[in-house]
Amino acid sequence: MLEIKNLAVTYSGQVVQTEAVRSVSCRIKPGSFTSLVGESGSGKSTMIAAILGLLPKSAQVSGQILFEGRDILKLNNNEMRDLRWKKISLVPQSAQNSFTPVLTIGRHISEVLSVHMKMSGLAADIRIDQLLEQVGLAESIKKRYPHELSGGQKQRASIATALACSPRLLLADEPTTALDVITQTGILALLAELRESTGLSVLLVSHDLPMAASVSDELMVMYQGQLAEQGASLDIITNPKHAHTCALVDAAL
Ligand code: ADP
Ligand code: MG
Repeated sequence: MLEIKNLAVTYSGQVVQTEAVRSVSCRIKPGSFTSLVGESGSGKSTMIAAILGLLPKSAQVSGQILFEGRDILKLNNNEMRDLRWKKISLVPQSAQNSFTPVLTIGRHISEVLSVHMKMSGLAADIRIDQLLEQVGLAESIKKRYPHELSGGQKQRASIATALACSPRLLLADEPTTALDVITQTGILALLAELRESTGLSVLLVSHDLPMAASVSDELMVMYQGQLAEQGASLDIITNPKHAHTCALVDAAL
């Protein structure tokens, strides 16, 4: 479904150049739950931005990101707009703060349905109820404002928003960072459940290797912009090969 070949991303600043991603090659299988793990600054969010065509102008990119056979890096703005939300969707890193305070949760979702699916009125209403149910939220949540929701509810609402256009691939960038452990577990279980029920592929970004391994079938370990290790979660957690992976596994013990 998604194949990355020799991806390199360099941010050029006025003084320094940062090689955020260096020669990364990997594959995300259809219907799989894959986690991209690594310490802060290892290049995880840069990978996500590249997949969504959202890298800043200061970034130089090379390599290929093939999605359903087409290179995302070669798409024009219109083609990219068509891909985002409908094919590949993002649960942003700061989902907690990504809602506009003056708009209800229902308005946030209906906005996405209107802009990207040209859906409005009753059809949109029905779809919103369906989405809220899918993420385990009551219908009444749609009339609420973001500040009226708990952290976990907001995270669920942001997942519902990301699912609005029935994407094939859901990217979730550290979706549980700001949450307590029990709520984190609930959100990860939800992602796993959505993968089961919809056949969607999930790419979870996390700095917590054991937690990521507990929900995903594939792991990719990033270290200083490179993939130190990739493979089945169980193999990696029981038999880590790269020194950095060992450190991430040990950190949790
Ligand atoms: P992670 O998500 O794993 O914490 P990032 O992809 O955000 O890592 O960052 C990787 C590296 O790229 C870091 O050194 C970071 O400072 C740098 N970086 C990220 N975004 C930018 C940007 N917009 N401009 C310049 N450097 C950036
Ligand atoms: Mg990040």
